[in-house]
Amino acid sequence: MIIIMKRNAAEESLKQVSSYVTGKGLEVHISHGKELTIVGVVGNKDLINPDHLTSMKDVERIVPVTESYKLANKKFHPEPTTIQVGNTVIGPDNLTIMAGPCAVESKGQLLSIAHAVRDAGATFLRGGAYKPRTSPYSFQGLETEGLQYMQEAAKETGLATICEVVSLEAIEAAAKYVDMIQIGARNMQNFMLLKEAGRSGMPVLLKRGLCATVEEWLNAAEYIIAEGNPKVVLCERGIRTFETATRNTLDLSVVPVLKTRTHLPIIIDPSHATGSYKYVPSMAKAAVACGADGLMIEVHDNPVCALSDGPQSLNFNKFATLTKELRPFSGLVGREF
Ligand code: PEP
Ligand code: MN
Repeated sequence: MIIIMKRNAAEESLKQVSSYVTGKGLEVHISHGKELTIVGVVGNKDLINPDHLTSMKDVERIVPVTESYKLANKKFHPEPTTIQVGNTVIGPDNLTIMAGPCAVESKGQLLSIAHAVRDAGATFLRGGAYKPRTSPYSFQGLETEGLQYMQEAAKETGLATICEVVSLEAIEAAAKYVDMIQIGARNMQNFMLLKEAGRSGMPVLLKRGLCATVEEWLNAAEYIIAEGNPKVVLCERGIRTFETATRNTLDLSVVPVLKTRTHLPIIIDPSHATGSYKYVPSMAKAAVACGADGLMIEVHDNPVCALSDGPQSLNFNKFATLTKELRPFSGLVGREF
């Protein structure tokens, strides 16, 4: 449930409400919005007497939260969340562009890509050091060495860095070298990994599972936040449908749907969604137009020779053209880019 406090409620009233709830063994999460102060309650609500609560000073009303996700729920936190990572802020005022290779292949490759994407307007360098590939015989990533190259690229360019993690060991290594961790589509419901990502305290990009519903996805986010880590960003990367003309089906309708259900930022990945560099620009523009907070785009210095996901990677020219074309779109939706 959430407890909506009266406009200009006294700090003392807020304290009284909080101590009544915590005294019953439940947790409170207070959200101070521009308009309202909301006290979100997590735990067994049967232990609370609603009549007593509504009779307390400065309590406006109580609203039940029927969804199983609470901390990720917009009812708990009506204002959109902003997350600072390095020098960049993910949230409603900005269009965040994360770009880079599917996999970190060498130091030289990563540094040249980092410079190219930064010069074209990206604020994040993405790069996979652990590659959970469909086939165990495909390139599996440079692991710690790849993370070290990400750190060097960040030092040279000032870009924030993001890297996928697949285990507790990978989270511990990533914490030393990069700014944000990514939970991949195949691990969206790896609940132990989600908890470890929550305990790490690092900003987390949570990709949507291949066949996950919005409800399942938001519950996965809840696992991370419930460990005390509110820095979660959602990433739609296409879902599996009957259609085979594209690698996956990009569910853009999820952007407005999520905006009604959660306060967490949402990033669109048109590269994994479509599987072809030809379709990335149109879907990137559509994503910005429908309200996405950012994009994750695969970029490679020489896509035909890429060790993974070459067919969906943009070369430097195509990426620079895309970011130029995106500027008027970001202006139309009032985002800084
Ligand atoms: C990736 O971002 O490189 C990746 C493997 O993505 P996904 O988990 O969406 O397949
Ligand atoms: Mn990839």
